[in-house]
Amino acid sequence: MSYFISGEKEDWEVVIGLEVHAQVVSDSKLFSDASTEFGAKPNTQVSLVDSAMPGMLPVINKVCIKQAVRTGLGLNSKINLHSVFERKNYFYPDLPQGYQISQYLQPIVGEGIVTLEMSGEIREIGVERLHLEQDAGKSIHDQDPRNTLIDLNRAGVALMEIVSKPDLRSPQEAGAYMRKLRAIMRYLGTCDGNMEEGSLRCDANVSVRPKSTSELRTRAEIKNINSVRFVEDAIEYEAKRQVDIYDSGGTVNQETRLYDSDKGETRSMRSKEEAHDYRYFPDPDLLPIDLSTEFVDEIRKGLPELPDAKKLRFVGEMGLSEGDAEILVSEKEIADYFEDLSVGRDPKLSANWVIHELFARLKKDDLNIDNSPVKADRLGSLLDLIEDKTITNQIATSVLETMWTSAEDPVAIVEKKGLQQITDTGQIDSAVEKVILENTDQVSQYKDGNEKVLGWLVGQVMKTTQGKADAKSVNEILRKKMDSG
Ligand code: MN
Repeated sequence: MSYFISGEKEDWEVVIGLEVHAQVVSDSKLFSDASTEFGAKPNTQVSLVDSAMPGMLPVINKVCIKQAVRTGLGLNSKINLHSVFERKNYFYPDLPQGYQISQYLQPIVGEGIVTLEMSGEIREIGVERLHLEQDAGKSIHDQDPRNTLIDLNRAGVALMEIVSKPDLRSPQEAGAYMRKLRAIMRYLGTCDGNMEEGSLRCDANVSVRPKSTSELRTRAEIKNINSVRFVEDAIEYEAKRQVDIYDSGGTVNQETRLYDSDKGETRSMRSKEEAHDYRYFPDPDLLPIDLSTEFVDEIRKGLPELPDAKKLRFVGEMGLSEGDAEILVSEKEIADYFEDLSVGRDPKLSANWVIHELFARLKKDDLNIDNSPVKADRLGSLLDLIEDKTITNQIATSVLETMWTSAEDPVAIVEKKGLQQITDTGQIDSAVEKVILENTDQVSQYKDGNEKVLGWLVGQVMKTTQGKADAKSVNEILRKKMDSG
């Protein structure tokens, strides 16, 4: 799906690279034993290392190394057995060390590939690298009229910075890439992907060029975008801004910009610094990381089935449509629910009920699948009643409605309300005859060749039987009686 912006004289192509900061799932920080739990009171999770007291030494947290390797493998990336932590020097009030420990020339993970499916088209987005680094603290400007307050709980928390190649070509692709990264890391259990809590943030490098060229023009970097929709909106705004500048004969500045989601615009923050401004050098307090191939292989063996592989299996082995499979693998929790549900049941019936009935109800009540009042085993019992023809599909929908608000078992609900399907053809026969007698107009329309009216007549029979008759038999019996009568 091509995306171009029309300028005054020509069409422009957008070139996007994303730098995603993903907080590592780990109980303690990258170089200290302080807790990483979200939502604690300010400055209650700060060790002497995190507050950079003189003489303190960082100690690497092995869990974070494992998580970075696991993520690298999940992104089909090269794992660098030798990597080095460096100091990136700069001043932030909430960075007490005066530098961030990061990786620069030798990151722990090298090049890889993330595959996107954009309306049927496969797009392979290059990953440039993944490196480990510390997060900074937080400056709070809105709690005191005169002072800025500092919370260091986040200082020293492990982040994975995942840098893409400038392979993305539209705001929608950038959004899809973010969602895919998030899904992969959630499957892996290496980042919880919670954007509201800041566990996943994105910097977008955006430039534009005339459609006919392949040059790379000056880019602007939009910092710290914290939702997928804002990533898309910010890029769209920024790309149009740059096209307008070129159209009016101006030049784009290399700078860092901020996205204001209230106004829907980007604003200049500062001119962009170059890598050499940070005076990177290997951290003398830390040894390089040297991993053995056994260590990496062990992690590789423990990888779960990831969304792409799962989707192939859902389509290939279970016979689901591409579209349904894509929806079901998009979140690990949805895939888990579906897999629990479909064990020993018809996969297509299971997929239908998750995607249509379950999702509609979850959406209506603003719930997600994890806190669904109807768990997979309960929904499974309901589907069993459809499969063994105890109830019709239509009745099952109303039983699900009852299950939603009561903890009752579907079998008990069906018993109590007497919802069993009418299988006695005699009973269906008489309902059909009644409907034929009462609707002579529609019956003669059918006889005149109006097939559409048949559906309406089926509906009338279903109404008379309170939805308990099997629609297929009703259809057949109606046809037979009208064709012969
Ligand atoms: Mn970074």
